[in-house]
Amino acid sequence: MSGSSSSVSTVNIPALYSDLWANRQEYIMFRIAKRVAELTPSLEAKGRAPLKLSIGAPTVEPPEAFLEQFKQYLSEPGIHTYSTPRGEPFFRQAVATRMQQRFGVTVDANTEVCSLVGSKEGLAHIFRGLITPRMEPTQQDIILTPDPGYASYVDAIQGAGGFSYPMALLPENDYRPDPEDVIRQLQAEGYDPKRVKAIILNYPSNPLGATAPLAYYEKVVAFARQRNILIISDLAYSEMYFAGEAAPHSVLEVPGAKDLTIECHSLSKPYSLTGWRIGFAVGCKPAIDLLASVKSTVDSGIFKAIQKAGAYALTSQACDDFVAKMNQVYEANQQQLVEGFRRLGWPEATLKQVPRATFYMWLPVPPRYASCETFATELLEKSGVVVVPGTAFGGNGEGYFRMSIVLPPHELEEVIVRMENDGFTY
Ligand code: PMP
Repeated sequence: MSGSSSSVSTVNIPALYSDLWANRQEYIMFRIAKRVAELTPSLEAKGRAPLKLSIGAPTVEPPEAFLEQFKQYLSEPGIHTYSTPRGEPFFRQAVATRMQQRFGVTVDANTEVCSLVGSKEGLAHIFRGLITPRMEPTQQDIILTPDPGYASYVDAIQGAGGFSYPMALLPENDYRPDPEDVIRQLQAEGYDPKRVKAIILNYPSNPLGATAPLAYYEKVVAFARQRNILIISDLAYSEMYFAGEAAPHSVLEVPGAKDLTIECHSLSKPYSLTGWRIGFAVGCKPAIDLLASVKSTVDSGIFKAIQKAGAYALTSQACDDFVAKMNQVYEANQQQLVEGFRRLGWPEATLKQVPRATFYMWLPVPPRYASCETFATELLEKSGVVVVPGTAFGGNGEGYFRMSIVLPPHELEEVIVRMENDGFTY
């Protein structure tokens, strides 16, 4: 047979995988996307082409003025060569200006700022820098992680050989767990509190849309100082809040917080730039140095024209106006969906609690379903409506599902009509 070799040997590439990566699944959102792609032909055939409420990404174009600027940067001398993992000085300076103007926080552009290839990248590399990889859970370094929370935290912590200990975000604690309670609980379960290296805060939160007052950040800063723990604040949604709401805070507004905080910001969601991969970290010099050191083994920085465009986005009125306009669009979309779910019989109390930030909604699954996974699967297979089961965000997500509210109004209406016709009432 052509192409066959004379000696037959069996290869087993998976046997070569690192213990940390053997038997690991791909990120949940990519798995959902794959499943949707598989089902698309049959869904289309029955008039149920997928309506994706699963994606945490804006569907509109970035601001026009931003795109115009970007085109000009492409012809600047030296623009096409390597940048550095920390980012160009002009980008770091724009970050410092933004932090001052938006939060009243002073950061040194040279030592307290690092560019990120999206905040997902930054978070994963901070975890890698903090965690000494181990396989045995009771021996692993611990990072306290919101549950429900952004699924990538757990994935990236486990991928770094660490242990992600869930902090329950529940209505009973106003979605703001007392970190000392969490420490007591993990100790009672046999974990050593001295192994806790960091605590992740994410307000406004994915998937809940919950926000935090400065007083909560003060409490966590005091806790972290007492125990020598790094605060990792994920502010991916800081600019996404509805009319009349106070602008979300940065943890760095708390006096002294910069001694022990690194905060990741993202340009993805507010400016419709999810594919561009740009964000930034700000905070204490040692944590920024650690991040830059890990990154220097992985990436060589963001395309300089994108950094130029990012600097423009962070400092231009046109981009601020775009964000404000999109927040109005998301609020209107949310109102439309609330009205739709009211029609479908969702309990009034759950509709009254919809968030005033982010572009997500988090609703209970009708009680007749055994699990949120069953509900999400049936909704996809029968109606082509793609939502994310709550357990994708942690064990405390059982009984709920997450929807993003980024689709245009006629598609949101189609979601409700299909659910009504296909029997997905509460
Ligand atoms: N943090 C949270 C809470 C998110 O929801 C996301 C994206 N879904 C990210 C970080 C990562 O965003 P990016 O990498 O695009 O900046």
